[in-house]
Parts: sequence; C-alpha cells; structure tokens
Amino acid sequence: MAESRGKVYVVGLGPGDKAHLTERARAALAESEVIVGYRTYLGLIRELVAGKAVLASGMQQEVARAQEAVREAAAGRVVAVVCSGDPGIYGMAGLIYEVLREGGWQRQSGVEVEVVPGIPALSAAASLLGAPLMHDFAAISLSDLLTPWEVIARRLEAAAAADFVIVLYNPKSTQRVQQLDEAQRLLSRHRVPQTPVGIVRNAYRDGQQVVVTDLAHLLAHEVDMLTIVIIGNSTTRSCAGLMVTPRGYQAKYELAPSSRECSRGSPGQLASSKPD
Ligand code: SAH
Repeated sequence: MAESRGKVYVVGLGPGDKAHLTERARAALAESEVIVGYRTYLGLIRELVAGKAVLASGMQQEVARAQEAVREAAAGRVVAVVCSGDPGIYGMAGLIYEVLREGGWQRQSGVEVEVVPGIPALSAAASLLGAPLMHDFAAISLSDLLTPWEVIARRLEAAAAADFVIVLYNPKSTQRVQQLDEAQRLLSRHRVPQTPVGIVRNAYRDGQQVVVTDLAHLLAHEVDMLTIVIIGNSTTRSCAGLMVTPRGYQAKYELAPSSRECSRGSPGQLASSKPD
C-alpha cells in the first residue's frame, strides 16, 4: 500500500558506543520498520534493531543503500539509514537528498526526511585528546575516491598556510596508502616538526587507541580507515599526554602560571596510548 507517506530517517550513530547515541537516534531506530546501513555500523546497534528488516551492505555501496532506502520509504515504510558520527559530515544525508531529487521529490508531498544529528568523529576524538579544536579548524578527507587528489592537496595547503588546526578524515585505507605521507610532507612545509598531532583509532569503540605525537613522528604510527588524525596549529601545545589549542584567554586575561607550563615539542602519551 503506497497511500501512507513514508519516511526516511538519516541517523547519526555517533562514534559507536550506546552512551553517545542521542535519544532522538534511539527513537528513530525504534520507530523504523527497515534499517539500512553499512555492515560494520549495523553491528554497533544490533540489539536496537532486533526483529526489524535489516538491509546491510558493504563499503562503497552508498548509492545502492540510498536508492534502497528511498524505494522503501516511497512504498510507505519508515526507514532508517544509519551512519557513523554525524550523517551530514561525510555521511549519507547529502546522497539521500540527491537520490530523492533525481526522482522528482517534492518536500511538501514526497516522503518525509529527518536528518538525526550524531556526535561526529572529530568531536569524539577531540574529547579523548584534550582540547585540540578550541580554535578555528578545517576538516579534510584524504579519500580521493570521489575528490581528485589535486583538490585535496590544494585544501591542505590552504588550511596549513592559514594556520588552521587540521582534522584528517579517511586518512588511509589498505589500497590508499600514499595520501597521508603526502599530506605530512605538505603540512611540514608550514608547521614545525614538533607540532602536536593526535591520532585516535576506534574512538569510543572496542580497540580504542589514543596517541599524542608530533608531525615529525606521525608516519611512525598505525593509521587506517578507523582512525582520525588531528594536526595542531602553531599555538597548539601538548602536555600530560594531552593536546590543547589555546583559545587566546591567556593573551587577554592573567591565568595561573600552571596553565603556561605546557610546551610544544614534548608530546606525551595517554595511559591508553601505544608507545611512540
Ligand atoms: N559521518 C562520520 C564520518 C564518516 S567518514 C562523522 O561524522 O564522523 C569515515 C571516517 O570517519 C573514518 O575513515 C575515520 O577517519 C572517521 N571515524 C569515524 N568514526 C570514527 C571513530 N569512532 N574513531 C576514529 N575515527 C572515526
């Protein structure tokens, strides 16, 4: 029956553990009859979707997933498309709208769409590293599957030159191994080797690893597609195994001397970190 108006929820699951899943995300999953998503993410919410129709697919099948979800909703069903982190950040939200538009979707009369925000990996990682994103930052994905490398390199260059803290998403996959090396080389032209760098793998998931190192040693650490990398700006300091980018309070107000002790060039390790 196609009479009732279907609905697509595009649900951000946050970094992975249930404690960081929003109430709205839980409610959307509970209300949905069909759950569509990447196999790995569906594994994170197995108990929450028990008994529902689950359409799992592999990596790089995003278009098929979006089309499937739209088809189900067009047939009057309530569908949840799940994404890690936030669905509007390198997630499925844009693709859902593109697929809908291609089918002539009208916002007023077509299937209902609700994007349910989630905690993005950059916030999850920042919380484990200290406070690296206290000042202006740029997020750049190193995946050149959909974006030519020249564009990525140009953005890296511009963000580095403008002294943004830089968050690297999709830093390295099994097939794609050169990009992080090239990014490190490019950023080293603008930042000193002691610039603090945070590497977080599987934030708030099993196997979580948190490392604070520096730009000179970035490539010595294990980095893969489950990892996010944060490169400090010229003011970022590492101290007690944490990475902090000052907001600028110190220049404006008199802070206690202890807050000035952190220095650049002495990257520390967190208790849960792997050795340098
Ligand atoms: N929508 C997601 C991003 C998806 S792109 C978000 O808002 O965060 C996939 C990339 O996100 C991965 O390659 C990795 O760089 C990063 N990522 C996602 N979850 C992560 C986690 N729990 N820990 C570390 N990095 C993560």
